[in-house]
Amino acid sequence: MKNSMNIFELFGIKVKVHITFILLPLLIGLGVFFTEGPSNALRAIVFVFFIFTCVTFHEFSHSLVAQHYKIKVKSIILLPIGGVATMEKMPEKPKEEFLMAIAGPMFNIVLAIILFYPIYILFDRNLAQMSPANSSFYTWKATILYMYWVNPILAVFNMLPAFPMDGGRALRAFLASRIGTARATRIAVSIGHGFAILFGLYGLMRGWIMLILIAFFIYVAASQEEKMVNLKVALGHYTAKDILSKEHFTVSPDASIAKVLELSLKTSQQDFPVVASNKVVGILTRQNLISAIHQHSKEKTVKEVMSHKFISVKINEHLTTLYSKMAANNLKTALVFYHNELKGVISLEDIARVYNLEVNA
Ligand SMILES: [Zn+2]
Repeated sequence: MKNSMNIFELFGIKVKVHITFILLPLLIGLGVFFTEGPSNALRAIVFVFFIFTCVTFHEFSHSLVAQHYKIKVKSIILLPIGGVATMEKMPEKPKEEFLMAIAGPMFNIVLAIILFYPIYILFDRNLAQMSPANSSFYTWKATILYMYWVNPILAVFNMLPAFPMDGGRALRAFLASRIGTARATRIAVSIGHGFAILFGLYGLMRGWIMLILIAFFIYVAASQEEKMVNLKVALGHYTAKDILSKEHFTVSPDASIAKVLELSLKTSQQDFPVVASNKVVGILTRQNLISAIHQHSKEKTVKEVMSHKFISVKINEHLTTLYSKMAANNLKTALVFYHNELKGVISLEDIARVYNLEVNA
């Protein structure tokens, strides 16, 4: 995600904060500063950081289960509305998705149980005093009570069956093992949309901007997920081999852009692998070509304008995996190999063509 910066790395997962995240402690701190004074503002800011520490560990719990199932987790990004773990793909098996979904809320529940006794002692073994209604920023003790309630609330909120929140994912996984992923997703998405509308209306009535944002996020994310599942169903029967064209062209790093332009006009190939002494050293995409022409640099060589980042896949890779890799790396082309030998190029458009054929068939 753009506009986010690394803060630390653990278990090979980068934890980043989005630039808008900085606004949250700042706004809350300032709000409390002007209404309740500086020491309350300090406690409020500590409280906000505590919430995000809990959210980070919640995301780590999802991520560690994902890693257990051999799913690469790239990063955890903290946004003002919560944390997001960016994964290369989602688990295929319902059981794996179920366990991954509940891992986050389980962390919050376990932490709430562990913290219960010390807090119980702190509040003189009096349950009534531990009510969230007694929390405030006026003393550290009252602030600690606020902190105590963070974990039960995170657990309950995330376990609401509002797909694609954790509870919704667990529900989808549960249904998928009985009625299949496509139908399970349709049901979970409808429930997710229902919750999003309820959250949105409630947020509007109460003037809670955060809840309105979360509602919007849930609505959009649920729809995206549904599209993704339809895509998977449509692409499910194909591998890279099935859609690879019979021939492909490669270019040398020292070839001129003018030469590649000539080649691209003669073929339907969009992107050209750049090969030097039988090794792929980069890729010259249609986009590289267009921007080189725009900058009047036709006399430049391929190696000056090519991209160094590319996706390589095996010839028997499923198109769904290929598509997820493209989406995760924000790249539109993949190079297909068979035993280290380049067999061709597949672009996002090629995949879109298969999808349109399948959907309209
Ligand atoms: Zn979660």
